[in-house]
Amino acid sequence: MIVTTIVGARPQFIKAFALSRAIDAAGGITEFVVHTGQHHDHEMSEVFFRELGLRAPDVALGIHGGLHGQMTGRMLEAIEGVLVQRRPDAVLVYGDTNTTLAGALAAVKLGVPVVHVEAGLRSFDLAMPEEINRVVVDRVSSVLCCPTAAAVANLRNEGFGVHVDRKPRLPMPWVEQVGDVMLDTLRHFRDVAAAKSAVLERLGLTPRAYALLTVHRAENTATIDCLDGILSAVSELSTSIPVVFPVHPRTRHLLERSGPRHPLAAGIRLTDPLSYLDFLHLHRNARAMITDSGGLQKEALFLGVPCLTLRDTTEWPETIAAGGNRLMGSRPVNLAAALDQVRVPDESSSQAFGSGHAADRIVDLLRELPR
Ligand code: UDP
Repeated sequence: MIVTTIVGARPQFIKAFALSRAIDAAGGITEFVVHTGQHHDHEMSEVFFRELGLRAPDVALGIHGGLHGQMTGRMLEAIEGVLVQRRPDAVLVYGDTNTTLAGALAAVKLGVPVVHVEAGLRSFDLAMPEEINRVVVDRVSSVLCCPTAAAVANLRNEGFGVHVDRKPRLPMPWVEQVGDVMLDTLRHFRDVAAAKSAVLERLGLTPRAYALLTVHRAENTATIDCLDGILSAVSELSTSIPVVFPVHPRTRHLLERSGPRHPLAAGIRLTDPLSYLDFLHLHRNARAMITDSGGLQKEALFLGVPCLTLRDTTEWPETIAAGGNRLMGSRPVNLAAALDQVRVPDESSSQAFGSGHAADRIVDLLRELPR
C-alpha cells in the first residue's frame, strides 16, 4: 500500500512524526512525503526534520506566501501533478492549514481517499481561515480521525452517520475517535527534551519563574493595533514575571514593518522560533503558557501548565472544561489576575486526548482502506 503524506506547516511536521513512526513500525505501507513549503524558514521547517529524525520530503514544492487563494491554488495544482504520477492508495492530511486544504482537494478530485488527522474540530468561527479549511477538508475526507469525543460529536451534528460494520473493508466516510497524535509525539519526546535541551541554561531561566508567549493567529497579527493590545497586556504582566516570546515569522514581519507602537517592556525576552525539543522543555518548565496557538493549548494541558488563550473561541473545549485554559480574547486585560485563577491541570486531564497511541489506531484504519 502507498500512502502520500502532505505536510507544510510546523505543527504538521510534529504530528506527522507520530504517524511516520507508526507506519514504519507496522510495515507493509510505503509512505511518500510531499512538503508544500508553506513554512520554509530553517527554524520553522528544516530544524524539525533534523531534530525529530523525519524522513526528508520526497517532493518539496517550495510554495509559500501570497493570499490564501493564490497559495492554495498553486499548491492544489502542484499536488495534483504529484498524485497523478504516484497514484497512492490514500492521502494523509493534517490539521487545518492551506496545505491540508490543497492536499485534500487534489486527492478527492482524483478519487484518492483522504485520511484527515485531527478531523471534527470546530471553533464555530468562520472568520478564521483555519475553520474554513477544517469544514471543507472534513466534508471531502473518507476517513476522519478525530482526536476527541467532542470532535466526533461535531461531525455527527453535521450529518456524518454512524457505521457499525467495517467488514470486509471500511465503509466511507468513516468517523473514529483515535486520540491525539500530538500527545503521541509529546510523550515520545518529553524526557528526551529534558535530557538533551539546554534552553533554560542558555536563556538563564529558572523553572516555574517565567511565562511563555506565542502569537501568530491571523486575527491577532492582521495589523499592529491588534498585536499592540496583546503586547501591552503582556508588558504589564512582565513586571511581575519575565515573559519569553519566541516570535513566529508572521509576527516578526509585522513588528519589523510597523511597530511596535510602544517599546516592549524589559521583562519580555524575544527569541527566534525554537526547535521542538527546546520549546517542549521550555514549556514544561514554564509557570504559564500565553498563546493563540491551537496546538499549544493542548500541549499545556498535557504538560500540566496553566494556559491563557488570546482568542475568543477555541477548537479545544476539553482544555477549558479541565480548568487549565482560559479564553482571554484578542484584547486581554489583567493577565496576572487571570493567571492566579486558572488551574494547574493534572495528569488525568489529558485522558480526553487518548493514551498516546493515536498513530497506531490510524495505521490500523489505513490497512482497512479499499485498494
Ligand atoms: N513549537 C515549536 N517551537 C516554537 C513554537 C511552537 O516547536 O517556537 C511547536 C509546539 O510545541 C507545538 C507546535 O509547534 O507542537 C504548535 O504549532 P503552532 O503554534 O505554530 O501552530 P497551531 O497549533 O496554532 O496550528
